Amino acid sequence: MSLTLGTVNRATEFPGVSEHYDRKEMAPGPTPNFPLPRNEINILSDADKREKARMIRQDALRFPDPLWSSISAEAKDFDLAALAGMFTLSGGLGLHMTASIGGADMPVVITVLNSYSGWALCAEGFMLDKPILTTVGALIGSSGAILTHIMCVAMNRDIVSVLLGGYGTSATGGGEAMVFEGEATFTDVEATVENLKAAKEVIVVPGYGLAVANGQYAMAEIAKELRAQGVNLRFAIHPVAGRMPGQLNVLLAEAGVPYDYVLEMEEINDDFPDTDVCLVVGANDTVNSSAEDDPTSIIAGMPVLRVWNSKQVIVMKRSMGAGYAGADNPGFFKQNTELLQGDADDGPMPQTRFVTQKPIADDRQAVVA
Ligand code: NDP
Repeated sequence: MSLTLGTVNRATEFPGVSEHYDRKEMAPGPTPNFPLPRNEINILSDADKREKARMIRQDALRFPDPLWSSISAEAKDFDLAALAGMFTLSGGLGLHMTASIGGADMPVVITVLNSYSGWALCAEGFMLDKPILTTVGALIGSSGAILTHIMCVAMNRDIVSVLLGGYGTSATGGGEAMVFEGEATFTDVEATVENLKAAKEVIVVPGYGLAVANGQYAMAEIAKELRAQGVNLRFAIHPVAGRMPGQLNVLLAEAGVPYDYVLEMEEINDDFPDTDVCLVVGANDTVNSSAEDDPTSIIAGMPVLRVWNSKQVIVMKRSMGAGYAGADNPGFFKQNTELLQGDADDGPMPQTRFVTQKPIADDRQAVVA
């Protein structure tokens, strides 16, 4: 039984993780990569695996002596063939399940696969009679399951609808997504720094772009400098920001940003109307107003940071391109929003850091105080 569980879990998890890696690195987007009827395939493959497990179990009962040597050659061949069949099917199921889930649901899939890997380890611990493996596996499995629940709550989804009908599939919304048109307004580093220094309340929303550009160190310095100059700067972290659960929290902590002013979405989402400047750095889906305004959007219903309620929004990114889920962001065209175009790696970010460190002008001191 342990061997069966270990094989099924591991074989489901590995291709699933590979598929996720492939989509993260190569072709992010909302479109599921598997065109076949996925629910039917998942159910059939599951039923077949259960039948094979039943056959192996029956065999084990026929040969109560657990020693492999006491089992006849035919029974061994039969069991090995059943196990190999299960391995192949589970691999196919892992690949198929992950490939057919839309981009915005991917964080939940990661935590589910993480949990699978723990349960596989747990079963392997039983099989090899290694309590330490069983214990560690159980810890990973249950923490993965808890994280899955947290992610589902954060994304306003339940696990069944993620696995059976995710965002970005025909199961979500109806009709064509709304088309948003308008002219984006652009700004530059000098003006951004002026606005940041003149503000009393600033919220920074970091996203995947900050992580991929390793911009957390420059951002931490900008934050430190502005706070030293009297600006109440805080960070707002969306639960699925970046490409890994908790990625932005870890990066900011690594750059030495104190926890006291790094706040979770539910702690800070109501503070945007009182915010003078909201600086969005490399985030897109997590601040996309179409999640609330467009019922046909592939991310409709996903809780987002309501940055557009701030008095002024500055979005730092390289282009008008979409985020991971592939949804257009109408927030870019709002009147209070400006784009600071460039790379968080070697563009506006280091320049902003440099300019922020210049002493604050006397006439500004009065505004900040
Ligand atoms: P998004 O992926 O929505 O947007 C990131 C933005 O960063 C892009 O629009 C891109 O725009 C910009 N960007 C990329 N590189 C740079 C750079 N070097 N400098 C400046 N900007 C850059 O990120 P969010 O964090 O807002 O949202 C996360 C998304 O990832 C969600 O859809 C979530 O579901 C998904 N996801 C999350 C996982 C998790 O566990 N957290 C796991 C898997 C998926 P441009 O190209 O114009 O610069």
